[in-house]
Amino acid sequence: NRAKSSLEILNEDYFEYDICSEVVTGHFEGDTLHRLEDDNSKEAVCSLGAILKYLSEVQKSDLKNIKGIDFYNDAQFMKLDVSTRRNLELVETMRGKDKKGSLLWVIDKTKTPMGKRLLRSWLEQPLLSIPKIIKRQNAVQELYLNSPLRQDEMIFLSDIHDIERLMARIVYGTANAKEVKALALTIQWLPQIKDTVEVCKSSLISDIWKDLDILDDIGCLINTAIVEDPPFTVREGGMINDGYNEELDSLRSISKNSKDIIAAIQTQEQERTGIRKLKIGYNRVFGYYIEIPNAFKEQAPEEYIRKQTLANCERYITQELKDLEAKVLGAQERIVRIEFELFDEVRKSIAGQFERIQRTASAVATLDALCSLAQTAAANNYVCPEITKGNEIEIKDGRHPVVELVLDGAPFVPNDTRLDCAGNRCAIITGPNMAGKSTYMRQVALIVLLAQIGSFVPASSARLGIVDGVFTRIGASDDLSAGQSTFMVEMSEVAAILDHATPRSLLIFDEIGRGTSTFDGMSIARAVLEFTSDSKKLGAKTLFATHYHELTELEQKIEGVLNYNIAVKKRGDEITFLRRIVRGGADESYGIEVAKLAGVPHAVVSRAKVILKELEDNDTEKPLRKAVPEKFEPEEMQVSFTLNTGSAIVEKLKTIDINTITPIEAMRLLYDLVKEAENV
Ligand code: ATP
Repeated sequence: NRAKSSLEILNEDYFEYDICSEVVTGHFEGDTLHRLEDDNSKEAVCSLGAILKYLSEVQKSDLKNIKGIDFYNDAQFMKLDVSTRRNLELVETMRGKDKKGSLLWVIDKTKTPMGKRLLRSWLEQPLLSIPKIIKRQNAVQELYLNSPLRQDEMIFLSDIHDIERLMARIVYGTANAKEVKALALTIQWLPQIKDTVEVCKSSLISDIWKDLDILDDIGCLINTAIVEDPPFTVREGGMINDGYNEELDSLRSISKNSKDIIAAIQTQEQERTGIRKLKIGYNRVFGYYIEIPNAFKEQAPEEYIRKQTLANCERYITQELKDLEAKVLGAQERIVRIEFELFDEVRKSIAGQFERIQRTASAVATLDALCSLAQTAAANNYVCPEITKGNEIEIKDGRHPVVELVLDGAPFVPNDTRLDCAGNRCAIITGPNMAGKSTYMRQVALIVLLAQIGSFVPASSARLGIVDGVFTRIGASDDLSAGQSTFMVEMSEVAAILDHATPRSLLIFDEIGRGTSTFDGMSIARAVLEFTSDSKKLGAKTLFATHYHELTELEQKIEGVLNYNIAVKKRGDEITFLRRIVRGGADESYGIEVAKLAGVPHAVVSRAKVILKELEDNDTEKPLRKAVPEKFEPEEMQVSFTLNTGSAIVEKLKTIDINTITPIEAMRLLYDLVKEAENV
């Protein structure tokens, strides 16, 4: 449902090894079957065989365009599970499912549909190999630095059609002449695209230059064969140029000039026979005929075949006339047929060049995606991150790539980040609602992700070790359609993270435990934090935003855990968000102030303050937040008085050390407490 795709369950016999291995060997030449078996397992053969069978059934044509297979190994890519992709809004926003507002929206400045698809797949599969990342990065850098070259290239790329899609239609024989012509229009830009990058030094762009075939033979074939503006349909002619095929030319001239030709034959026959009164006529029964008046019928040549005798003339036919007649009458029909055949030949010979064209298409797509990243870096003031073999995430003046573009007037406040697998393993981030905790944590994840696709990043500098996976648990995402409650979803996501994350992963937890009672939630949050941050357990780099201020005491207990908060300035009842991340735990939540900012009615806000004060007074050991001085109504005071007395007993209980108290002392104390309780 989420993937917006339909599911079809195939019969088991689809996957039978013997049949599948036959299908695979039948389709791929060479040793694909052995490679599959060597590198993987029989399951790979069965899956591939089943896919090929299924495709040939649904496509109802052969699958010539599937020429080779690549082994996809998810060990090459950063682990990003479905909820993380969604939470980080990589290709669409969580709420509206719009591209606008997603990371892709920011970085997609591609000009071709192929570039667009490629960039999206890069974003969904960040790399793990440092050499591969650096290779892309160098190419982006080169295009970033050479702005005129980049601008030129982007102009040329704007005229490129979707070669991959066109080729798929050409290979399947479904492309019309307009589409084939579109390929030629695209081909005409390839020399410029290729020449422009000839000066580039980076190895990826040099590869592009090598792979980019200007396909002039194909362009030439299309342009010679197909007219400037062909029709959409392939069954009504009008597609093939004059001069491309002799038979077609003569048919066309027959169809166009049939009257002239008849007149020419008439003159030719008059001259040959010397019969000036010889005429060529036409009727439905005999078709074309030669008519000679009786007076001259003796002069009719021998090869004339008599067809009809009338009172004053004889009518004949000749082989030439019959041939012409067949041509004239069938010309239009045959024109249409021959045009289709010629067009199909052109289509097939282009299809025969599939690999060359496909290689060029992918070179163009890569160049487009690289230009897009370079353009984004230039337009949005990104820097080239340093990719290291270490474990650190060191970001100076990092920004959220999307939020910085959608802020209404207010400037985005950049923040630093330092995480590693030692003394800065886990950052517990506290701070008021709306302060910017989620934004900050996502920004770190997005910067890491951008760096690993080879992009520049929104910061003033960044040193980043490779992260093998980003795992997030952010906000409430209901999956009611799947019959799961918010809390259940939250916990299953937490479970999945703890199961799959490694010490090289980056973990982001945004207020876990919020979906249940305070104590349950806090206990879960703390246990998760202890597990992920402890180097003897998971020990992964973690950003952990929480409203449970009690958790900040872990800084003292677990090495590598540090407290941060997002600063706010408070004046009287008003708070100003500073958006700066600073060391130390926040001592206040300001939830009520934020509720006021959000327009919650005054009566509710002031009542909330009273309730808060009562709760805090009741729990003096662990204040949830500092008391907010406020005047109270007398009857409300009474409630809090009662509660306060109760808390005196609690206070006394808290002073007891169970390990050292003697039974006698315990009895005495219990007696005192019961007495006190009776007075409450
Ligand atoms: P809550 O605890 O309620 O979920 P939060 O602390 O996670 O809130 P965010 O959702 O991250 O807050 O941020 C709220 C808004 O503040 C953002 O939508 C953005 O408009 C603004 N904001 C966040 N960070 C910054 C920043 N660094 N500079 C400028 N504006 C920011």
